[in-house]
Amino acid sequence: MHSDTVKNALFSVTANPLLKSLISRFDKECPKDGNLLLNSLKEFLGEPVALCPTCQHTSRKIAKPFYELGIRFLRVDRNFMRHQFVGSPYGEAWLRGFGLMMKGIEKFGVRAPFTPAGPFEIVWNFTYQCNLKCKHCYENAGDKKRTELSTDEAKHVLDILSKLAGIGLPALSFSGGEPLARKDFFELASYAKKRVGYVSIASNGTLITRDSTKRIKDAKIDYVEISIDGATPQVHDDFRCIPGAFERAMAGVKNCVEEGVNTCIATVLHKNNLAELNKLIALTKELNVRFMHFNYIPTGRAKAYVELDLTPDERLHVLETIGKEIISLYLQAKEQEQEQGKSSVVVDKFFSTCPQYASVTKKLSQKAGEKFVVEAHYAAKKGVEIIANFLGGCGAGRLYCCLEPNGDVKPCVFFPTNKNTVLGNILKDDFEEIWDNHPFLWRLRTREKLEDYIVDRKRVGCADCPDKYICGGCRARAYSYFDGNISAPDIGCIRNKPLWEKFFLAKKH
Ligand code: SF4
Ligand code: SF4
Repeated sequence: MHSDTVKNALFSVTANPLLKSLISRFDKECPKDGNLLLNSLKEFLGEPVALCPTCQHTSRKIAKPFYELGIRFLRVDRNFMRHQFVGSPYGEAWLRGFGLMMKGIEKFGVRAPFTPAGPFEIVWNFTYQCNLKCKHCYENAGDKKRTELSTDEAKHVLDILSKLAGIGLPALSFSGGEPLARKDFFELASYAKKRVGYVSIASNGTLITRDSTKRIKDAKIDYVEISIDGATPQVHDDFRCIPGAFERAMAGVKNCVEEGVNTCIATVLHKNNLAELNKLIALTKELNVRFMHFNYIPTGRAKAYVELDLTPDERLHVLETIGKEIISLYLQAKEQEQEQGKSSVVVDKFFSTCPQYASVTKKLSQKAGEKFVVEAHYAAKKGVEIIANFLGGCGAGRLYCCLEPNGDVKPCVFFPTNKNTVLGNILKDDFEEIWDNHPFLWRLRTREKLEDYIVDRKRVGCADCPDKYICGGCRARAYSYFDGNISAPDIGCIRNKPLWEKFFLAKKH
């Protein structure tokens, strides 16, 4: 039996029954005070919360000792927690994420990888409409009219998400198509902001004029991610298939920066724009925005351009290049903290959706004598390294999932849409039932079941990889390259290079 299976089995017979029973004692909805799970955490972190005598007793006698032990066991820095949960503008999202984690332990127990009681984030491919014709569009957007939810139906979806697992959704990203192409976008974004902790947009940027940037601010949207394929119009417009797209997208970035909106440049790197990487990094530094590398996944329209995918060596080069940037920021912040007691350096600036980023940054930081693992969308800084082993890696159908424009639920935007990957519809089916029980999701959540292949008499794949809990390989890439097998290896990883070579060799013959 695999050692992970043994570890998870041990958890399930030893710690889990006790943990489940303890959490159930303070996971209560008080008619007067609301959710005790969240209130007790706020109280534990020093926020003044008025509680009725019963809630106060449970909070102090059961929840508080539980949290004390938990942070000691996981070596979580309480100040870091206080800062994120209480002191930051995104505290509501963090609190809800924590609530879903606790309820996840209550429902599924502690297991590696960990599954919360609901997704921390949903990416909503909100519309098929788009004003560009990008070659790599996973949604095949803009080509024909397909059914989308009406404004009222979309509001109903947001109402459902606001009550997710009795806690509410922490983060929602409007994507597409181009989300701003829908006329009711701002109405729905404002509606969402009142119901979800953190709201962001993934946009092609071309519709982010000065006027719409003001509306983004008025809607209190937390974060805007704009796709830029290269530092020059030639590269970008060639891929987006519309002349002038680059100028308009860059104007969108600058409008957001000028208005003080938290902004990110997102780039899908592939063979034709790999040479742009350093120029893009320089551009993000100049504009003082975040950089997000999007992994190339041959799905949707990109399926026809599989030859654009990076080799494992090229992907490693990308991850090391951006990894060095974030580690350098981390070291600067650490030095400033040691000298001045606190730091003004923003570390969380260079990310990748590629799950191997965690493995690469772990190695880079070890070389610098540090323990620092960067996950796809958060930096596991001081105090949360252990958590990264439970929460890290591919989050498809585990930490995050996707909604289609008609309300269909999928594990990740990069899975093609078909009868296997569509798990139900949020307006027709019970979302929590899907989340808790769908067998496709449990396959994605079970890394013991990952498969290896034999290449030249050696085992190759993610199954025996020491980093499979902080990475696990991109399951959408496995699906794409291995005809729907979500347990297959991610052949974009340097560790799986022999399999990559075998795959492309076979294609040539
Ligand atoms: S072998 Fe798989 S799990 Fe290991 S680092 Fe590579 S992609 Fe991740
Ligand atoms: S399958 Fe996993 S790693 Fe791949 S894009 Fe989706 S969430 Fe990210």
